[in-house]
This record gives sequence, structure tokens and C-alpha cells, in this order.
Amino acid sequence: MNTQLFRAIDGLKLPAEHRALLRPGESESDSHGNVHHLPRFFYEVASWQEAHEIRLAPHFKLAELMTVDCREAELLLREFPHYVPCAIVLLARFLEDFRREVDAPVFVSANGGYRSPAHQMGGAKSIHAWGTAADIYRVGDTFLDDIKSIEKYAAIAVSLSPAVLVRPFGSGAGEADDHLHLDLGFLTLTPRQCSETS
Ligand SMILES: [Zn+2]
Repeated sequence: MNTQLFRAIDGLKLPAEHRALLRPGESESDSHGNVHHLPRFFYEVASWQEAHEIRLAPHFKLAELMTVDCREAELLLREFPHYVPCAIVLLARFLEDFRREVDAPVFVSANGGYRSPAHQMGGAKSIHAWGTAADIYRVGDTFLDDIKSIEKYAAIAVSLSPAVLVRPFGSGAGEADDHLHLDLGFLTLTPRQCSETS
């Protein structure tokens, strides 16, 4: 893993335009009314080329976990550097464990990894804004678009860690029927060289 490319930054020191979209360290309540602090520390990503070069785990490149479409805020979508919460390294580590267990390639959908608090899909209420969630649409040759395949791989994911939550199959709120959503909770990571005072 070529981590020498990684630069950790304090989101509170970003320009106002970025702070308004990324909302580093700000409070947000989830759908149950529980309040969480959005990620404050980010890795700075200089280009798509760099995102493809950085391996967070043997089978997961950073680019796979930060691909978004035009539902992302224009500034964050179009301009580099991009910023990803530091906890994304732990998501990649978990996905690597999952991949080893299923013994097949694991595919994360576009908009299915990190999405900023300004993204139109869920925004700051979505755990994807923590960089600790992944939407998996395919494992090996199997597309996860029916109850059988989603429940099969959901069971494997939850067996790997008590921290993992999967969304049940279905088309209602908090459910998914064309991918497996898994997440590690509202996890944030403070790089050792960063101070948590404001
Ligand atoms: Zn999801």
C-alpha cells in the first residue's frame, strides 16, 4: 500500500467553500434522532490518477470507494484535490476481509462508497458521508439484485464483525433491493499527527 501519497488534513483548516460542503466535525442527527459528528480529518487526493494508484488494501483502490456522479456537489465532483474521510482505510480493510471470505471479486457501485454531506443521496444523514459504508452490487459473477443473493452475502458480512450492519432486502426505507449495503457505524479516524483541539 503506497501510503506515502496520502496527506491527512484537518477539515477545519479548509477554505470556507469546502467547509460549507464537507461540514467537518459538525453535528448531524440520523434517521433515529441520534446525533453524530461528521468526519473532521480527511485525506487529500490530488487527482484521479492518484486515486487509482493508492491501494487501501490488496484488492481495493481508493478510486473504487470514492466514485460519485453528478448528484455530488459540483465543486467536490469537478475540482481536485478531493477529500475523503480518513476512516475509509478501515472500510477498505473490512472489504478485504469480506473478499477473502467470499473468495471472489467484490464490486462497489458508483455513489456506493464515500459521498459528501452535500450529496443528493442522503446527504449528511447517510452513513456514506462517514466513508464507512459500501454498496456492493456484484460479487464474482453474481449480481446482488434478489433476496437470495443479498441475504447470502449479508449473512457473511455480519459474521465477520459485530460492528457491521447490513440493510435488509426490500424497497422500503432503510432497505435495499439492488445491492448489499454494509457499514461499520459512525467511525472516524484521527491521524496521529493531527490535533483534535479546535
Ligand atoms: Zn448504502
